[in-house]
Amino acid sequence: MSSPVLPSHGRVRPLGLAQVRLNGGFWYERQVVNASATLAHCESWMERLGWLANFDRVADGTTGPDRPGWPFSDSEVYKLLEALAWEAARTGDPDAEAAIKRLTARVARAQDPDGYLNTCFGHGDQPPRYSDLEGGHELYNTGHLLQAAVARLRTHGEDDLVRLARRAADHVCRVFGADGLAAICGHPEIEVGLAEFGRALGEDRYVEQARLFLDRRGHGTLRDIPLGRAYFQDDLPIREAGVWRGHAVRALYLTAAAVDVAVERRDDELLHAVERQWERSVARRTYITGGMGSRHQDEGFGEDWELPPDRAYCETCAGVASVMVSWRLLLATGQARYADLIERTLYNVIAASPSPDGRAFFYANPLHQRTPGRPADPEEVSPRAEGGTRAAWFDVSCCPTNVARTLASLHGYLATSDDDGLQLHQYAPCSISAELPDGRRAAVEVETGYPRTGTVRVRITAGSTASWTLALRVPAWATGATLTDEGGTREVAPGVAEVRRAFRAGEVVTLDLPVEPRFTWPDPRIDAVRGCVAVERGPEVLCAESRDLPGPAALDALVIDTRAGLKAGDDAALARALLPARPGGAWPYLTHQAAPRSDAGWIDLPLRPYHSWAQRGPAGMRVWLPVSTPHPEGE
Ligand SMILES: [Zn+2]
Repeated sequence: MSSPVLPSHGRVRPLGLAQVRLNGGFWYERQVVNASATLAHCESWMERLGWLANFDRVADGTTGPDRPGWPFSDSEVYKLLEALAWEAARTGDPDAEAAIKRLTARVARAQDPDGYLNTCFGHGDQPPRYSDLEGGHELYNTGHLLQAAVARLRTHGEDDLVRLARRAADHVCRVFGADGLAAICGHPEIEVGLAEFGRALGEDRYVEQARLFLDRRGHGTLRDIPLGRAYFQDDLPIREAGVWRGHAVRALYLTAAAVDVAVERRDDELLHAVERQWERSVARRTYITGGMGSRHQDEGFGEDWELPPDRAYCETCAGVASVMVSWRLLLATGQARYADLIERTLYNVIAASPSPDGRAFFYANPLHQRTPGRPADPEEVSPRAEGGTRAAWFDVSCCPTNVARTLASLHGYLATSDDDGLQLHQYAPCSISAELPDGRRAAVEVETGYPRTGTVRVRITAGSTASWTLALRVPAWATGATLTDEGGTREVAPGVAEVRRAFRAGEVVTLDLPVEPRFTWPDPRIDAVRGCVAVERGPEVLCAESRDLPGPAALDALVIDTRAGLKAGDDAALARALLPARPGGAWPYLTHQAAPRSDAGWIDLPLRPYHSWAQRGPAGMRVWLPVSTPHPEGE
């Protein structure tokens, strides 16, 4: 069965990508752009920068320490291969298939006879293999190769990519096995790659190697670095950690692997440790967008409540990795809270990254942009991860290929099944079909305009005389949701709403989710946004942009009157806002609390989906809006 994650057991089972088809709407449109633009865009940039030629140079014996790209540039080729494999299976696109063969042939030529495969170490005058485990990313690269091979194996079957990945994995097991080098990679990823590769091939020794890497971590196995060992989660064994810390992508890739190993080894202690880390990190170290990582210095988590909106890092890759973690926990436990976070992150981190044309991306996803960025040159590599506008490519370009592989496989994250029925976790127009035990079949078609409208119609497309359960997630924000079935309409609480009976073909079960815009207040311990409010609409976080105001300065000063409520606008929610003039002075600290002066009067401030910010051009932007003091002058 084709699915990015296929645990041997769990509370619910993923559906194969062939069992779910998106038929239109928000995510389908992004899949189409991903297929028609992003995949070729990524390949052309890697060609242009020599990241692909790095493989040719190893094969031809002409490479050296002068090789272009960071040590992890090989992984971008592998993430693109993974995206292409999902895409080739989704549509049967011959261009995707041809690209897989073209890239695989170049990668294959660079593999050493013993299975080692890396363009940055071990050839010519390059540093020796595994001479910089802290920063060299060799095993990290191999992990992405294995994930690409899993995609190919599950959608196509064994081919050259799978065979070369197997040789690379065997090499890793020989060098780093129980009797080998007791070492780990500074950037986790090999663990999650090995675990899934083992599942896909039915060969437990790869899962065992992943377990070895996990258990070795957290004992000061790597050399200390100025950022400290927490940066690469080598400060504490994962079983003993209580919260995510250090580099966010590293922490989350490692955690995804920990869920895989915990499930395959039926290691409940490890699974519960991860669940505790998820709980505390989501409760205290996660942005309203689902974004993770508040420190630029180490692309890492801050302390509890350290969530500044303007200095938010929220790397797109951390969003992808967060979805990887929550999806695995959802499969293991069936709990709706994991699907809630997946939804939040998909709409407000992952969807924010690519431009509508699929050829530019956000790397960092701050919640407040004080000055509009400059338009990015589509022919230039952006040296910086931040900047307020989407860039065609980056010096460190991990995010575009991560978005590509996620979008190409996105239909795999919508629904699951168990022995009793079908569970819908995300709502999009789609067709779903699942075989259940005892010859039952659950087949539905979902019709919805979600997230813009909240009505989700689930039409049964295959009737049966035997009962099964249709389970629909009710998002945590959806207070007042209703479910309409043949017995009438009833209110359903956040969590999961179930209908169990024998369904006839053509019957419709309707879930109505309240997607009117709503205010959301932060925990006061998040000091940076105390006294502010955010506006959400369904799963979308909204934001104000300077393009809708007299200028960026108005964005600094505005205050919102929450008592006036929110109105629905054309493509936006409208909040009542005051654009006061602030007393300017030589010193921005006063002996009294400044009351806003209502010189500019009250306006209807448009608030638009955060994921679309800066699409109309460079703009100042803010998600958190200061609430007006109780009685501003001018009321
Ligand atoms: Zn990234």
